[in-house]
Amino acid sequence: MSSSAPVRTRFAPSPTGYLHVGGARTALYCWLYARKTKGKFILRIEDTDLERSTQESVQAIIDAMEWLNLEYDEGPYYQTKRFDRYKEVVQQLLTEGKAYRCYCSKERLEKLREEQMARKEKPRYDGFCRDRKEPGEGPYVIRFKNPQTGAVEFDDLIRGKLVFENTELDDLIIARSDGTPTYNFTVVVDDWDMKITHVIRGDDHINNTPRQINILRALGATPPQYAHVSMILGSDGKRLSKRHGAVGVMQYREEGYLPEALLNYLVRLGWSHGDQEIFSMDELINLFDIKGINKAPSAFNPEKLLWLNQHYIKSSDPQHVAKELQWHMDQLGIDTTQGPPLTEVVTALSERAKTLREMAEKSRYFYTDLQYNDEAVKKNLTLDVAPALTEIREQFTNLNDWSKEPIHHVIQATADKLGLKMGKIAQPLRVAVTGDTISPPIDITLMLLGRDRVISRLDSALRLCS
Ligand code: GLU
Repeated sequence: MSSSAPVRTRFAPSPTGYLHVGGARTALYCWLYARKTKGKFILRIEDTDLERSTQESVQAIIDAMEWLNLEYDEGPYYQTKRFDRYKEVVQQLLTEGKAYRCYCSKERLEKLREEQMARKEKPRYDGFCRDRKEPGEGPYVIRFKNPQTGAVEFDDLIRGKLVFENTELDDLIIARSDGTPTYNFTVVVDDWDMKITHVIRGDDHINNTPRQINILRALGATPPQYAHVSMILGSDGKRLSKRHGAVGVMQYREEGYLPEALLNYLVRLGWSHGDQEIFSMDELINLFDIKGINKAPSAFNPEKLLWLNQHYIKSSDPQHVAKELQWHMDQLGIDTTQGPPLTEVVTALSERAKTLREMAEKSRYFYTDLQYNDEAVKKNLTLDVAPALTEIREQFTNLNDWSKEPIHHVIQATADKLGLKMGKIAQPLRVAVTGDTISPPIDITLMLLGRDRVISRLDSALRLCS
């Protein structure tokens, strides 16, 4: 692709499981680069492995991209819908003498492999059918005629110049005996047809790149630019996997992370801009550059992610946080239609929860029947607090303005009247209306609960006082 062509990046997951945080980071880099350059970001589902690909995985990937707000401009394209096109290109290569039919049996290939291994050589196809004069017989695969001399050189945007000798590469199978295309071939045809200018992907594909470049050149296409991103490691220095905890993007949703926190965490895991830790999306679009991506692998640090999550819970627009909190309330089966607006709950609890899951658990009592903590009840709802609770109940019934200050005033006045310290009243009151000893400031909690709930909970509490 010429450097002036409009930027087109793609994220090309194989739908064989959920979206992994590593994949999400790749998608984020592709998305950022497209947004930064006002180019296009394409989603391509590489589903040609029919045994391992599932519709649920496709959906899981699409859902995770949506949750992360990584919207794509084109796609999802499905490779399984493009088989005719792949066949056409295989035929083109055959006609042009750039690919050939290989009739070698499994047995022959196995024997060849064993001999090569015995000689301590790298197993590779020996080109037997490439030079064949007579047509073969029986089932065949199609192999690409890889150049036999020279080298493939490319400037990886992250790693710099990389050189692969053609003698190291053998003639790749591009179509199997049943006619289905192979992975390296479909990628090439798609990157070509979809006019991809920048391939940003995991470094596990680095050895595929010279093969793909050779095929692209044989097709007369200019290869895109490549950027191979290093892997993510767990805290023990091994490749991040389930052993290290959650690795699926949606698992982080379930655990109560905000998408911005995960994105902010992932972008920094392998890319940096000085020491800056926190970036808005607009800032990222502005500052992101492929060249700023680190060559070295990075280690996943769950505490840092949690810290970022807390930051975003505290600093994001409560309305936005409330939308995500609503999802958690639904997951917990809490009906939020009868109770305070969720945005107000977010404001009251934003300093008190590290995750939205925790926030949802902690705001249950605003919406559902109380679950009393027996110990808190025993300790706080004693006979001697009954007069104070009765007095407060009375005052609350007559309170005109059910808002924070007047509520606070009633509690203070009752404490003064009965000669009690504020804390002596606030804690029993808290247990009475929330069932436990921890909540936002009592006046705010009461205000959010609403008068009717407060009165009826005080009635129940007074019956519990013993
Ligand atoms: N489908 C490949 C994978 O999920 C990615 C291929 C690519 O980005 O070129 O690993």
